[in-house]
Amino acid sequence: MKYDCDVIQDLLPLYQDKICSGKSRKVVEEHISECTVCRKMAEQMSDSTVEEKLINEKNSVIRKHQKIVNKKTTTIGMAMAGILMIPVLVCLICNIAVGHALDWFFIVLTAMLLVASLLVVPLVAETSRVMWVVVTATVSLLLLLLTCSIYTRGRWFFVASSGCVLGISVVFAPFVIAPLCRETKLERHRAALAVLWDTIWLYLLLTACGVYIHGDAVYWYMAMTISTYIVVLVWIYVFIVSYGKGNGQIRAGILVAVSGIWIGMANDVMNFFLAPVGADDGYGLGGLDLSRGFRFDDIAVLNANLLFAIIVVSVCVGGVMIFSGLIKEKRVDDNEKD
Ligand SMILES: [Zn+2]
Repeated sequence: MKYDCDVIQDLLPLYQDKICSGKSRKVVEEHISECTVCRKMAEQMSDSTVEEKLINEKNSVIRKHQKIVNKKTTTIGMAMAGILMIPVLVCLICNIAVGHALDWFFIVLTAMLLVASLLVVPLVAETSRVMWVVVTATVSLLLLLLTCSIYTRGRWFFVASSGCVLGISVVFAPFVIAPLCRETKLERHRAALAVLWDTIWLYLLLTACGVYIHGDAVYWYMAMTISTYIVVLVWIYVFIVSYGKGNGQIRAGILVAVSGIWIGMANDVMNFFLAPVGADDGYGLGGLDLSRGFRFDDIAVLNANLLFAIIVVSVCVGGVMIFSGLIKEKRVDDNEKD
């Protein structure tokens, strides 16, 4: 044999994929006609390409089937949309017949839009179903609130709508943001984007409420101060989870410790900021008296002892988690060195 088996075996993948030169091809063919070891290897390789072919074939069958199912669900979705049009048309005719301006017709129309976004959209949308349902349902809900608010001549639209959007966002914003960011530079910032969206709507809700109740300076000061204390904690979570260093255990430990400290300090921080408007309650860690334990006859002491216990327990638990996370990380490092 002219060539070493090692050389031929290195060439085999190129030969199988038909990307080697004609000369190499000839060399390989000559060699495997004489060498059983290399011939066996070549056969095994072509077997694996048969397997790949089977997988491809299977996938194409699945795709075809999926297309048929999609077509069926789209048809059902369209039929449902048609059925939902019936009450809308009936109301349109009645509303015109009774001689009103088209007032309550719009309430029925927007209500049916909401139903359609929940029933029809999931059947018709081909990709990112949850995203489409959330977006269309939210928009139709806002339209429904708007028509009701105009019909009743209320001025509650902004309070109701910002509250609804905030509530929906807290649960569903990640489902809308994730498909929108997929395969873009924003992908690794999607948690921060979801929380940014929620934060904006929280402050919009606070503003809408303040305007609705004709809030005075004390309202604005208290609402913004208390909310911001909580919002900052949420943002600390985002930074630790999304951008923090170390493995999951270390980051979870930091989260536990920070949350405990934040909650334990809440009373004192709030008293400090709310004292100028006379809204402090005087309680806080200052009343700490561990010798009196968790006695219920003195609320100030009980409160302080509880807050202190929260801080101590969470710092200890968090510390243990961080410590075990560090050990784990060191072990992984050592294994990699070996
Ligand atoms: Zn050989």
